[in-house]
Amino acid sequence: MNKFISILIVGLLSFSLNSCISKKKDKPVITVTILPLKYFADQIVGNKMDVMCMVPAGSNPESYDPSPNQLVTLSKSKSYLAVGELGFELAWLSKLQQNQPALKIYKTSKGIPLIEHKHNDSHRNDDDGGHFGLDPHTWSSPKTARVIAQNILTAIIETDPKNEKLYRKNFVLLISEIDQTDSVFSKKFRTLKNRSFLIYHPALTYLARDYGLNQYSVEFNGKEPTPQHLKMLVDAAKKHDIRVIFIQKEFDSKNAQILAQESGCKIVVIDPLSYQWSKGLTDIAIALASE
Ligand SMILES: [Zn+2]
Repeated sequence: MNKFISILIVGLLSFSLNSCISKKKDKPVITVTILPLKYFADQIVGNKMDVMCMVPAGSNPESYDPSPNQLVTLSKSKSYLAVGELGFELAWLSKLQQNQPALKIYKTSKGIPLIEHKHNDSHRNDDDGGHFGLDPHTWSSPKTARVIAQNILTAIIETDPKNEKLYRKNFVLLISEIDQTDSVFSKKFRTLKNRSFLIYHPALTYLARDYGLNQYSVEFNGKEPTPQHLKMLVDAAKKHDIRVIFIQKEFDSKNAQILAQESGCKIVVIDPLSYQWSKGLTDIAIALASE
C-alpha cells in the first residue's frame, strides 16, 4: 500500500514537473536591462512570458558586464527591451546584436525628449572634453515612465501578438499605478518649499525636470568630482538651504560623506533601481517632502 502510494506520488510529481518544464519551454523570453523595466514588463505579460533582467540588484547599470551564463540565457530571448542610453547598453547592445542578429532590440525611452548631461556650475573642467551625452534615467519620473510602459507594451505585443488582448488589459492596470504615483508626487511637491537636493549619481534628472525640482549631482560627467566641483556644491547647499544628499547602494559614497560633513546635509539612501518601481520612487518623494 505504502509502496503504491509512493509510486503514485513520484509519478504525479514527475508528471507535474514535466508539464512545468514543457510549459516553460513554450513561454517566450524577453530580456530587459534594469529591474524597474522588468517590473513594468512583468505587470504586462502576467504568466505568458519570462522576463529576464541583465543588471542584477545592487549592480551598477552604467558599468555592468554580463556574465557568460547571462549571455547563454539571452540567446533564448526573442526581444531585448533597453532603456536606451545606459552605460551598459552603450557598451554591450551592438555586441549582443552582432552575436544574435535575430534579437529584436527596442529602446523603451523612444519618444521621450532626452536631457543632455550638463553642469550645475559655470566653471568648465579640463577633462570634460565637450562631451555631454544623454541622460538615461527616464524611468525615475512617472511622466516619462508612462512613455516607457507604452513602448514596452508595443514590444511585448510584437513579440507575442496572440495574447495582445490580455497585454492591453494588464497595461491599463500598470498605467493606473503610474498615474497614482504621479498624483502622489504632484501633491507632495506642489507645496514643497525647499526644491533643491544633492545627489551622488544624477538618477533623478527627469523627476527634477517634471516636478520643478533642482538636482545637484556630485558626480561630474560620470566621474569623481573635482575639488572645485565639491566646493561649488557646498556653496550651492548653503545658498539654497539644501538639507539632503541622496546616495544609491550601487555607487561609492565616499565623496558624498565628505560633502555631507561640509554642508551639514543628511545622507539618505534611495533606490531608484528597485524592482518595486512605485515604492522606490515614493520613498524619494517622502524623503524630499519631509526635509
Ligand atoms: Zn545612472
